[in-house]
Amino acid sequence: MDLIASVDRKLAALEGQSLTRRRRIADTACAPEQTVDSRPMLAFCSNDYLGLASHPRVVEALREGASTYGAGSGASHLISGHSRAHAVLEERLAAFVAPHLIDARALYFSTGYMANLAVLTALGADTDAMIFSEALNHASLIDGARLARAGVMVYPHGDVEALDAQLGASSAATKIVVTDSVFSMDGDIAPLPALLALCERHGAWLVVDDAHGFGVLGENGRGALEHCALRSPNLVYVGTLGKAAGVSGAFVAAHASVVELLVQRARPYIYTTASPPAIAHALLTSLDIIAGEEGARLRAYLAALIERLDASLRLTRWQRPASHTPIQPIVIGANDEALRVAASLHAQGLWVPAIRPPTVPAHTARLRVTLSAAHTFDQVARLAGAINELEAM
Ligand SMILES: *Cc1c(COP(=O)(O)O)cnc(C)c1O
Repeated sequence: MDLIASVDRKLAALEGQSLTRRRRIADTACAPEQTVDSRPMLAFCSNDYLGLASHPRVVEALREGASTYGAGSGASHLISGHSRAHAVLEERLAAFVAPHLIDARALYFSTGYMANLAVLTALGADTDAMIFSEALNHASLIDGARLARAGVMVYPHGDVEALDAQLGASSAATKIVVTDSVFSMDGDIAPLPALLALCERHGAWLVVDDAHGFGVLGENGRGALEHCALRSPNLVYVGTLGKAAGVSGAFVAAHASVVELLVQRARPYIYTTASPPAIAHALLTSLDIIAGEEGARLRAYLAALIERLDASLRLTRWQRPASHTPIQPIVIGANDEALRVAASLHAQGLWVPAIRPPTVPAHTARLRVTLSAAHTFDQVARLAGAINELEAM
């Protein structure tokens, strides 16, 4: 029982710091209006930025994929789990982001977490490599850097000059700069053109994790590379497919040789069962929507919702870091106050997560509002009204 008691002490310590996390149970599909823990709620917490998670065409494609390919893939991609749907999806994804890469090829992964582990462990496999990691990077990039044999240096958030100095001072044989494109807790965008110029000058890779940009940014939804008009052989792009694409999984797109190295060497690719082919089949429809007129319409509408929220919030105490993406943080500061505010919103049927350390730095606990093209202007106005009122209390 000593073992259990030691775990219970750790849990009690978390509780004492207001850091215990609790899951809510959704009884309905991911959408603004959901039944959660058997109560109707208006949700502002998903990353389903275009509303594709419950889009009838995508859901139908998933059903069709299951009819064709069955429920599971049965094995890893290199054994027998690689289906026609996976292969076609990879070709379509490569063609979609091809304007920004040289000799582009794409590789589909079961999750973005694994894609990031794969890229950093494969490119940073040697002890004479160095990974230069942005301070606010997603946990999956931090873990990928830890798992790689390469050394790791962290550069301050958005600080191109500091990174320049680090790259200049390094004698590493392989240099890998890695950054989120859209920072997942702040919604700001990395200075990608300046970072790419640095990487080209120093002969470094630039790994861009576009989890929150793919499908959302760029005129055609091609993400951060399109938004910033980038094109380079130094780019290694990670797009995730469980957020704006509304389904599940991720892909790495890069020069064909880089992708071949991942197929041959990346353990998070090789040693895991391929995700169900039906998912890849459904993603073909998501990609059609993202790349087509409907996607353009959804992105324009989402931009209008973001503007509406911005114009409706009137805050004096709480901070709003500038964000032009669907991630709209409201920084409250103390963990317990952030929890209290989220609980008050919840009591009014509004579901907005309180994000606390270690996900964000200490003393920056926040509400993280995420908007989706599935929201209405009225729903956004209702949220803004409730937040304004709580801040004034
Ligand atoms: C969500 C996210 C991931 C992980 O992607 P999954 O497909 O959910 O595993 C990676 N990076 C960032 C920045 C993310 O927000």
